[in-house]
Amino acid sequence: MLMKQSALYKNLLLSNLELEMYNPTTRKIVLLNILLYISSLLLGFFTLYNVFIDEAYYIALIDFMAFVGAVYALIDMRIRGDIKRASLIATLDIFLLMIALVYVIKGQDFTLIWTVFLPIFAIFINGSKIGSVVTIVFYSIIFTIAYNGLGVWQDGAWNYAAFIRLIAASIGLSFITYFFEQSLENAYSELAESRQSEKNYVQNLEMCSITDPLTQLYNRRYLDVQFKQKFNKAKENNSYYALFILDLDKFKEYNDTYGHIAGDNVLQSVAKVLQNSMRREADSTFRLGGEEFCALFMADEHAKIIESVRNVRQNIENLHIPHIRSTFGSITASFGICIINDFETKNLDKMYKIADDNLYEAKENGRNCIVGEKKISVL
Ligand code: GH3
Ligand code: MG
Ligand code: MG
Repeated sequence: MLMKQSALYKNLLLSNLELEMYNPTTRKIVLLNILLYISSLLLGFFTLYNVFIDEAYYIALIDFMAFVGAVYALIDMRIRGDIKRASLIATLDIFLLMIALVYVIKGQDFTLIWTVFLPIFAIFINGSKIGSVVTIVFYSIIFTIAYNGLGVWQDGAWNYAAFIRLIAASIGLSFITYFFEQSLENAYSELAESRQSEKNYVQNLEMCSITDPLTQLYNRRYLDVQFKQKFNKAKENNSYYALFILDLDKFKEYNDTYGHIAGDNVLQSVAKVLQNSMRREADSTFRLGGEEFCALFMADEHAKIIESVRNVRQNIENLHIPHIRSTFGSITASFGICIINDFETKNLDKMYKIADDNLYEAKENGRNCIVGEKKISVL
């Protein structure tokens, strides 16, 4: 789901990037843009002010270079769409600007106040980890310069008390910024985790609603959905489209003889055989309920349909699961199949009825056989 936003918002604050939902990256992009706009405006203003009013050309040059850096970061972000790169360019720009200003202006006219921008910039834009490292390096340099200015800057008025005030205010603000950013990061990661687990839960529920718990095959409910999808695909490819129902033979007797748990094991083995025999992408296998299974599949030749269904019947027999009360001596299944090659009518009930009638006939014919494989039906 893409965020809804006005074109202006998208252009100005999101650098025209396509972003999914509101997340920490989105927040960083918006902040980076806002901070770069503010920096560019201030730097542009100070460049002009220092040229025309203060006639402080050195400082004007520093401001102008930083102004160029900020504008470059804005443009780079739009061209490359690389937020990390733009963040680092912007951070480096402001970092160098502050150090140059402190070095050149030597604490005159409250200019040190501008250094408070750095931790905000660095931590919000680069995250609490990189941001705090940048902040520590930055203040190490600033405090060293300011320490060397003791008794010299501001015509000697820059003293220990002023120096300690600078340190206390800088550290205080940096900590507040750091914890604010960290609590946001934690909140976002918790939100992302809970979103993910909700998503997994819903996916799991969806899967459960279409899966038979004993065999892990699709259930009857999903047959309707799959029938339509495959019908359309078969129609598109003009393939033969088939549905077979298989029903285990004398399964009640099996349960009565070997017990219900042994019966469940047989159902699982048969499900595996069905799945392994019908494993092409276009094949789907279902447990309809009890000891009845079903498959939907297609092939470009009628012979291939016949081959597939015969294969399943043989593979079930090949399991050689002993069943003393069956005439075959082992677990077998009877099959009713419906094959179509005419896609005028899309009707699962009709196709199912044909297969089911054929299954009934297979039972009548003595079981462990397939009925309907030779016939192409029209729904
Ligand atoms: P036929 O050859 O005519 O199909 O005979 P049958 O005994 O297989 O058919 P019938 O419908 O009389 O019996 C189906 C049996 O399947 C009844 C029940 O004991 C068994 N059955 C249904 N569901 C389950 C299941 O989930 N687990 C087990 N173990 N048995 C089941
Ligand atoms: Mg049955
Ligand atoms: Mg049966």
